[in-house]
Amino acid sequence: QVKAQGKNGFMRYAPEMHRSHCERVDLSNELRIAIESNQLTLHYQPQIDLVHGRVTGVEALVRWQHPERGLLGPNIFIPLAEEEGLIFPISDWVLNEACRQQASWRRSGLTDLKVAVNISPLEFNRADVVERILLPIRTHQVPPESIEIEITENLLMDDAESVIAKVQELRKHGLRISIDDFGTRYSSLNYLRRFPVNTVKIDQSFVRDLDSTGRQSPVISAIVGIARGFGLSVLAEGVETAFQIEALLQHGCDVMQGFHFSRPVPADEVQRYIEAQALATL
Ligand code: C2E
Ligand code: MG
Ligand code: MG
Ligand code: MG
Repeated sequence: QVKAQGKNGFMRYAPEMHRSHCERVDLSNELRIAIESNQLTLHYQPQIDLVHGRVTGVEALVRWQHPERGLLGPNIFIPLAEEEGLIFPISDWVLNEACRQQASWRRSGLTDLKVAVNISPLEFNRADVVERILLPIRTHQVPPESIEIEITENLLMDDAESVIAKVQELRKHGLRISIDDFGTRYSSLNYLRRFPVNTVKIDQSFVRDLDSTGRQSPVISAIVGIARGFGLSVLAEGVETAFQIEALLQHGCDVMQGFHFSRPVPADEVQRYIEAQALATL
C-alpha cells in the first residue's frame, strides 16, 4: 500500500487512493474492535500564552494505534466513524480518557492546565450531550473549569437555539467552550454575539497565509477585533514559524498552538515539555 509519512508523524494514505467498498468495511470493523480493545490513544498539543510565557492548556487529539497500519490520524478515521455511528463510542472514550489524564496531571501537581477536547457536530447534536460530557468530569472529579469543549463554527448555523442552550448549560456547569477552525465556514462573526463561548481559535489556513500576504492579514485583524469586542480570548492554530508568531503578536493574538512550539505528543511528554518551559523562564 502506498503510504506517506504525514506531517503529524503518522501514516497518511495518498489522496488518490480512494477506499474501495471492501477496504471501508474492513476499516470500520477494525475500528469497532479498536475502540473496545484500547487501540485509541490521545496525544496532546500545548497551547502557549506568549505574554506570560507559559503553557495554559493542551488540546487532546485522538490517534489510532493500528496493529498493522501504524499510528493513524483522525482525518483517516473520524469521517468514517461519523458515517458509521462509531463517533459516539469514540467521543465517550475520548472524553473519559481526557478527564482521566487531567485528574492524573492534577495529582502530580499540574494544577492549572486546561484540557481541550474536540466534539464532533454529530455528538454535540445529541439531546444528551451535556450529560455525556459531565459524566466523566464527575467520575474523575476534575474541575469543570479545567475542561474546554471545542465545537466547530458550522454547528452555530444548524439549529442555533438548541446549540445555544447546550453551550449555556455547559457554561453554567463551569466548562469552557471554544470555536475551532474559526473563519473557515459560513463566516458568521455575528453569531458570536449570541454564543456564550470563551475562545475563538483562528484556523491554521489564515496563519499559513501570513507567509504570502506579509504581516498584515485583514481576516486575522477582523477575527481578533470582533473576538475582543465580545470579550473573548483568541488562539491561533498551526503556528509553525517565528515570522507567524511575530505577525500574530502584532495582530494582538498572543495565545498560540502549533508545531513551532510542539507537535501533539503523548501525555508523559507534555509534563516534560512544561517542566522544561518553566526552567527556561527561571
Ligand atoms: P483540529 O481540532 O483543528 O486540530 C488541529 C490539527 O492541526 C491537528 O491535526 C494538529 O496535529 C494539527 N496541527 C497542529 N499544529 C500544527 C501546525 O503547526 N501545522 C500543521 N500543518 N498542523 C498542525 P490532527 O491531530 O490530525 O487532527 C485533525 C482534526 O481531527 C482536528 O482538527 C479535529 O477536527 C479532529 N479530531 C482530532 N481529535 C478528535 C477527537 O478526539 N474527536 C473528534 N470528534 N475530532 C477530533
Ligand atoms: Mg480542535
Ligand atoms: Mg482547528
Ligand atoms: Mg481542523
